[in-house]
Amino acid sequence: MSITAAIANAPQDPFEIATCELGDPQHGEVLVRVHACGICHTDMAVKLQHIPIPMPKVLGHEGAGIVEKVGPGVTRLRPGDHVLMSFGSCGECSNCRDGALGYCDHFRDINLFGKRAGGSALTRNGKEVGGHFFAQSAFATHAIATTRNVVKVDSDLPLELIAPLGCGIQTGMGTVMHVLRPPAGTSIAVFGAGAVGLSAIIAAAIVGCSTIIAVDIVPERLRMALELGATHAVSGLSDNPMAEIVELTQGGANFSLDTTGVPAVVANSINCLRARGVNAQVAAPPRGTMYAAEASVVVGRGITVRGVVEGDANPQLFIPRMIGFFRDGRLPLDKFVKTYPLEKINEAVGDLESSRVVKPVLVMR
Ligand SMILES: [Zn+2]
Ligand SMILES: [Zn+2]
Repeated sequence: MSITAAIANAPQDPFEIATCELGDPQHGEVLVRVHACGICHTDMAVKLQHIPIPMPKVLGHEGAGIVEKVGPGVTRLRPGDHVLMSFGSCGECSNCRDGALGYCDHFRDINLFGKRAGGSALTRNGKEVGGHFFAQSAFATHAIATTRNVVKVDSDLPLELIAPLGCGIQTGMGTVMHVLRPPAGTSIAVFGAGAVGLSAIIAAAIVGCSTIIAVDIVPERLRMALELGATHAVSGLSDNPMAEIVELTQGGANFSLDTTGVPAVVANSINCLRARGVNAQVAAPPRGTMYAAEASVVVGRGITVRGVVEGDANPQLFIPRMIGFFRDGRLPLDKFVKTYPLEKINEAVGDLESSRVVKPVLVMR
């Protein structure tokens, strides 16, 4: 079938809106008419080739839409179902069997390289275009996804608001709720108040952290963090942000989370911890990036540093929980989502990169 997609051709070129051909869903797959798709930093990291993936490619991995057709063997989903698309996993490797889907042996192949049993389903003028990014490639009017990464949602939910639950929000909330698991009354410092950091702050408020410190260099984002549950805001541009955190927590935070991947910020996110503190790293900085941590801090304070993919979440279980928080008002996505028509994808990316918008979401018409 003929579809419209935003194609990434080269790192510095704008996305190109073009007509492509998309094949039929195969065994275990569904064709989704995409209604909306969030833009995540991983889309930009791939386009800029920080993660080297062959181009041209259709990116987009926070898709939401309506099932249009199901492939052979699909019984759980039907045409007309409203769905979110999250990351893919093989379901067969030891980590998948253990429920640790973000650490699937085939995570890179399935999600970044878009490996699909039947090969790429996407062509343009007869030439193959990279598709199936995160088992979806949802910067398009239609996407082929699999039963493993499609989560059915109630049809009354606003797809353009909940689309980012599939990656960014899941990463922030999941890292707090599944990995750090701060007991009520403890302190947490969150470095970077973008979509992932703000989601972490919201989760920290839900689980009852009593001191929640947002660190960012953009005043508007700090203001938003305070509105969404942070108890304190520290500017990364101040003379000594570390000293401010240590003072606010009377000796160091119990937990911290870095969403920036900037080595100096990562170091601060570890150094701000008190003894036996736990730190999580969730960013995807360019290949070869090294983090430096002071040995006397890590060893002497008994610090735990943990890398986290997709918030250690199983989307089939965690997306419904996050929707519950959205429904009861504790996850006010409308406060940080801004929608753009697909054709304005380059404007949306510009607004994300300049920090004017926390979570741009493309809406297909
Ligand atoms: Zn696997
Ligand atoms: Zn993402």
